[in-house]
Amino acid sequence: MKVKAAAKINLMLDILKRLDNGYHSLFMIMQSVDLFDTVTVEKNNLNKILIECDKDGVPCNEKNIAYKCAVKFFEYCNIEDVGVTIKIEKNIPMAAGIAGGSADGAAVIYCLNKIYNTNLTQKELCEIGNRVGADIPFSLTGGTAVALGTGNVIAPVKDLPDCLIVLAKPQQDVSTPEAYAQFDALTRVRHLDRISMIDAVSNGDYEKICSLCGNVFEQAVEVPKRPHIKGIMRKCGADATCMSGSGPTVFGLFSNENKAKDCYEKLSSKYNQVYICKPTKSGVIELD
Ligand code: ATP
Repeated sequence: MKVKAAAKINLMLDILKRLDNGYHSLFMIMQSVDLFDTVTVEKNNLNKILIECDKDGVPCNEKNIAYKCAVKFFEYCNIEDVGVTIKIEKNIPMAAGIAGGSADGAAVIYCLNKIYNTNLTQKELCEIGNRVGADIPFSLTGGTAVALGTGNVIAPVKDLPDCLIVLAKPQQDVSTPEAYAQFDALTRVRHLDRISMIDAVSNGDYEKICSLCGNVFEQAVEVPKRPHIKGIMRKCGADATCMSGSGPTVFGLFSNENKAKDCYEKLSSKYNQVYICKPTKSGVIELD
């Protein structure tokens, strides 16, 4: 079975507190975008989970998020025949804050539920995904949603109005655990206007959403190129600019297509990983 797995951006990311178990209580407004990995899952006769990926640097072993998701799925369903081969065609940049690994993990959970005829509900699939990572329940859901807790509570809201999203990843990798450690070391956090954002996304109010976009990781994670990227986006007429996830990817929202294309061109001449995207309504899309 073959699916497309969508990347995401955070229109808002606030961290409410660090929990006793080391996890964090999150408030996130998520949006899936049409930048996809392609994931193929097929049964094999080896009773082993095999990972293949076309991109160097992606771990093709038990460290892969797709592998971890398969293990959690088989445990949850008490399945002993775990022979599956997972092929990942990688287009989503890694360690970028746009859920590249989580998208692959979500795709695997989605496919295994079909291949093994386990008929799990969306809620159960999300529960399995949340055992591996905070972004996986959303990656299974897609569209526009509020994500709370450890990413386990997902509330879909009105679709983000049509717009273009320009993504730029500077040449820097951010490790998510390190980003949380840097956040924990902050002595003061400027929290975001979450209540107004709930109102804005409930009503699909693009202008208000743009005025409220924000990410507390910008206070903790140093991304030297962030001001430069944001400056270009603003000059090109972005309605909002913000970092996604734990970074370093920065996105700009544009209601005007020509301005977005101009921004894409300008950034592409300076950075290697620049994308122009549209919002999508789902996280996992079946191909065959
Ligand atoms: P996420 O929200 O999923 O954490 P991210 O963009 O911050 O998104 P990932 O792209 O998931 O980070 O990658 C983080 C690290 O996880 C990478 O450095 C890589 O070594 C490892 N990894 C494990 N599985 C995958 C995968 N399927 N795709 C990409 N990276 C993976």
